[in-house]
Amino acid sequence: RADGHQVPPPVVHYKLNELTSSDSAAAQGERILILTPMSRFYQEYWDNLAKLKYPHELISLGFILPKTKEGSAATTALQEAVAKTQAGPIDSRFASVTILRQDFDPPIISQDEQERHKKENQKLRRESMSRARNSLLFTTLGPATSWVLWLDADIVETPPTLIEDLTKHDKPVIVPNCFQRYFNEDTKQMDVRPYDFNSWRDSDTALDMAAKMGPDEILLEGYSDMATFRALMAYMASGLEDADPHQEVELDGVGGTALLVKADVHRDGAMFPAFPFYHLLETEGFAKMARRLGYTCWGLPDYFVYHYNE
Ligand code: GDP
Ligand code: MN
Repeated sequence: RADGHQVPPPVVHYKLNELTSSDSAAAQGERILILTPMSRFYQEYWDNLAKLKYPHELISLGFILPKTKEGSAATTALQEAVAKTQAGPIDSRFASVTILRQDFDPPIISQDEQERHKKENQKLRRESMSRARNSLLFTTLGPATSWVLWLDADIVETPPTLIEDLTKHDKPVIVPNCFQRYFNEDTKQMDVRPYDFNSWRDSDTALDMAAKMGPDEILLEGYSDMATFRALMAYMASGLEDADPHQEVELDGVGGTALLVKADVHRDGAMFPAFPFYHLLETEGFAKMARRLGYTCWGLPDYFVYHYNE
């Protein structure tokens, strides 16, 4: 200005009480943040993001990658994919993209240990994943974010209507069933099998086991010497051709391969515990924390996303 005074930057007001997360998300112009911890880049994952029908101008993307050789290769591939899409047709461009590199060491995973040590590895790995998810969440969640969609980098098959399909349930936390395609040697045909066992309804057995545990001990799903008898969503799929993909079940634990969360649940403080929380870690601990905050968690046993098969 001629008088030499600087114009102070404008103060931006966000009315959080007017920020909605509703069953008509796109029509309401609700912004969604898709968050992905990524150790490897899969083109199929990116192609599915690019094909999402939800208005891309309402979608922001956030990634966190480990500081490993593998993580560096994935970062390069991801940056190329981002550059291509963001230079493409305006309608295809995402609102914003944030790429973070982890500031802590990756977990050390030893190969042949005894069962107990394997569990210990699982503990370190999931604590490390919790820190990665929390770093990503706390640096990218904005005042205009209505929804957060957690989507793993190795989820290679998702419907283009994924966001509309999940938001329309209008749930605080909702998770589809994560399966995997494989070649069935018995039938000599391609087949599907459950992949993610972290979405479950609790059992008295698991609660009793937890009650007898020390403060640092955790419950893990899928270990024969730790049978929890929880009801796993993986086994609730009807298997029927004409199954209703929108049938809901209430859950106590959730997996994070694909997981939709109302941003207010995170804003209230629900995150991924990197420490035993009610003897649960990461996404299962998150579900517990969300429930302790008064929210409910839901699953769609007959709505599928598919995990890469290595
Ligand atoms: P699993 O499928 O449950 O056995 O777990 P993954 O190994 O696939 O990890 C879950 C997600 O986190 C995937 O999207 C991985 O690409 C990503 N991931 C795995 N390890 C790391 C890590 O050390 N750091 C980060 N930032 N992401 C990771
Ligand atoms: Mn995976």
